[in-house]
Amino acid sequence: MRMKLSGQVALVTGAARGIGRATAQAFAKRGIKVVVADINAKGAEETVQLILDDGGSATFINCDVRDEEQVKQLIASTVEIYGSLDYAFNNAGIEMENQRLHQGSLQSFDMIMDVNVKGVWLCMKYQLQHMLEQGGGAIVNAASVAGLGAAPKMSVYAASKHAVMGLTRSAAIEYARKNIRVNAVCPAVIDTDMYRRIAEVDPDLAQRVPNHHPMGRIGQVQEVAETVMYLCSEGAGFTTGHGLTIDGGMTAI
Ligand code: NAD
Repeated sequence: MRMKLSGQVALVTGAARGIGRATAQAFAKRGIKVVVADINAKGAEETVQLILDDGGSATFINCDVRDEEQVKQLIASTVEIYGSLDYAFNNAGIEMENQRLHQGSLQSFDMIMDVNVKGVWLCMKYQLQHMLEQGGGAIVNAASVAGLGAAPKMSVYAASKHAVMGLTRSAAIEYARKNIRVNAVCPAVIDTDMYRRIAEVDPDLAQRVPNHHPMGRIGQVQEVAETVMYLCSEGAGFTTGHGLTIDGGMTAI
C-alpha cells in the first residue's frame, strides 16, 4: 500500500488545536506546505510555530468558515501563497449540546448547522472550483460516528454530521471522473478540548466514555490525523465517498 502524498499544498480548517492541529502537523511532516485556517488566531499561530520549529512550512489565514467571502478569499490566498491546493481537511466544527431534543434552542441549532454544515459546504464549494481547474485533488471532511448513527443528547450535532456525510457522498459521485476524491473521517470520542468541555459539564461521562469503545479507551488526535493522511494518499486512490471510522470498534457492535 502506497502512503505516498504527491501533492504539495494542504489546507486544514479548525487547525488552531485538537484534531486540526495534529493533522496540519502530519501534513507538514510529509513535506507538504500547510495553510492553517481558524478563527482562533493565537492557537493557529501556535500551530504554525510548531510546524516551523519542526522544519516544515505553514501559514495562518484567519477564516470563519461560515462567511462566504472569507472562505472564497481563503482558497484564493492559499493558491496565491503556495501555488496550488492539493488536499483539504474541512475539520472546523462545534459541539454545544448536552440536552434532549425537546429542550434545544433555535440559537444552538443555527450555530451548530452554520459551522458544521454551511462551513463544510462553503469550503467544498470553493475548493472544488479550484481542484476542477487544477485537474484533481483530495478532500476529507470531519464527520463523526454521530454522522453514522444516533447521538443521544446531541441530536443536532448528529444531524449536522449526517449532513456532512451527505455532502461527502454526493460530491464524491459528482467529481468521481474529475480526479477529485471526497471522503470523510468518522471518529468516536477523541481526546481534545471538545471532549474535555463535554466531560466538564458531565463528569460521570468522563468515567464511562472509555468503556463505550470496545478497545476500552478514547482515541488520540494523531490517530485521526494519520487516517486523513491515508485518505489523501495514493494508496487510497480508488476510495471515494467513504466515511472511515476511527472508533476503537464502537460501530462494529
Ligand atoms: P476543537 O474544539 O478542539 O477544535 C475545533 C477548532 O475549530 C477550533 O480551533 C476552533 O477555533 C475552530 N472553529 C470553530 N468554529 C470555527 C469557525 N466558524 N471557523 C473556523 N474555525 C472554527 O475540536 P476537535 O475535537 O479537534 O474536533 C475537530 C472536528 O472533529 C470537529 O468537526 C468535530 O465535530 C469532529 N469530531 C471530534 C470528535 C472528538 O471527540 N473530539 C469526535 C468526532 C468528530
